[in-house]
Amino acid sequence: MASILSLEQETNPWLAAEARFDEAAEKLQLDDGMRKVLKSPAREITVNIPVQLDDGRLEVFTGYRVQHSIARGPGKGGIRFSPDVTIDEVRALASWMTWKCAVVNIPFGGAKGGVICEPNLLSDGELERITRRYTAEIIEFLGPERDVPAPDVNTNERTMAWIMDTYSMHVRHTTTAVVTGKPLSLGGSRGRPEATGRGCMLVTLEALKRLRMDPQSTRVVIQGFGNVGGMAARLMQNMGFKIIAIIEYDVAVVNQNGLDIPSLMAHRKETGSVRDFPGSENMDRLEALFLDCEVLLPAATEAVIHSGNVDRLRCKILCEGANGPTTSVADAILADKGIFVIPDILANAGGVTVSYFEWVQDRQGFFWNEDLVNERLKEIMVDSFSAVVAYADRHRVNNRTAAYMVALDRVASAIRLRGIYA
Ligand code: GLU
Repeated sequence: MASILSLEQETNPWLAAEARFDEAAEKLQLDDGMRKVLKSPAREITVNIPVQLDDGRLEVFTGYRVQHSIARGPGKGGIRFSPDVTIDEVRALASWMTWKCAVVNIPFGGAKGGVICEPNLLSDGELERITRRYTAEIIEFLGPERDVPAPDVNTNERTMAWIMDTYSMHVRHTTTAVVTGKPLSLGGSRGRPEATGRGCMLVTLEALKRLRMDPQSTRVVIQGFGNVGGMAARLMQNMGFKIIAIIEYDVAVVNQNGLDIPSLMAHRKETGSVRDFPGSENMDRLEALFLDCEVLLPAATEAVIHSGNVDRLRCKILCEGANGPTTSVADAILADKGIFVIPDILANAGGVTVSYFEWVQDRQGFFWNEDLVNERLKEIMVDSFSAVVAYADRHRVNNRTAAYMVALDRVASAIRLRGIYA
């Protein structure tokens, strides 16, 4: 299969999403009509947003919001700001949100947004104007019952506060439940910032139990040190894992005895990079992916594991913190190598799960303490992990296919029960 696809085709996220979908749909023996419905995004919105830059020039930015499915509830999914955003990427990410919400069985469909821009080169004011105008352009498709955005790559609590405010100004009353991942003081949920990393930690613990491995002798390599990778690193270290390498966009740092994560965070804050962290060695960021370890946690971007490098992986467990870090061509090789994969739509579902809790709390106007959030998150992650792994055993498929089969089946059954409105 590797030979018929160029690396560019292989790493196209929408092709990856389709390949996984097709395999699961085939195994579920879904009919052609249902396949078409499940595969086609319900709505794709493109907006060109004029924004005045600080120097007075006018610039036009292109943004997307794709609502892949709203069969099980409102659209749900993040908004990313990046120069690499494409409609294919947003479409794939939106479909992954549909499957992710279905795997953990929370009452949402799937959506995703993106704006093509380079946030590092924009001022706070410019980012705010982009965010507000983008929100205004897609406003009729947003709402607590319609589509609920959240943070993603290069967006954060502050971005969500701007979206909440813009939406609220338009509808003339404060509507906190229109976005999740907000600041705590604006209807955010306790535990949301850590939720994706915590979910990764929880499912990794379950995988270790299943493989009869001990957290105390578990070496972890993490790619990405942001909201997902950074939080997962901190929480995993607290559980006794040894984080032997952190890979960032510029360099990797390695210490076989384990990196101290809070000190590494402080070092990065001070110097702007993880490079030259005392007691560690700098390493080429691409090479560090192939370090011998028990757990590899890619928590950065898509398609970092592909047919060109999957052979070199030396982990026992691959916990996919990022969305789509592995291409579909690499899947078969992972299976041959006997690597236990915790697929993205399960592994990183902790974030959207606590987003669901945030939405529930906002709508009730009644807020939970952190222990309750974490307890409920744990219950959902552990149950979903067990359900996927049991399904994989029962149907003799790999974990990823099992997760997709569970998800597709849930969404298909919602569509069947609702019927097609004509
Ligand atoms: N952007 C996150 C994800 O990819 C969170 C989405 C959400 O909370 O809605 O899962």
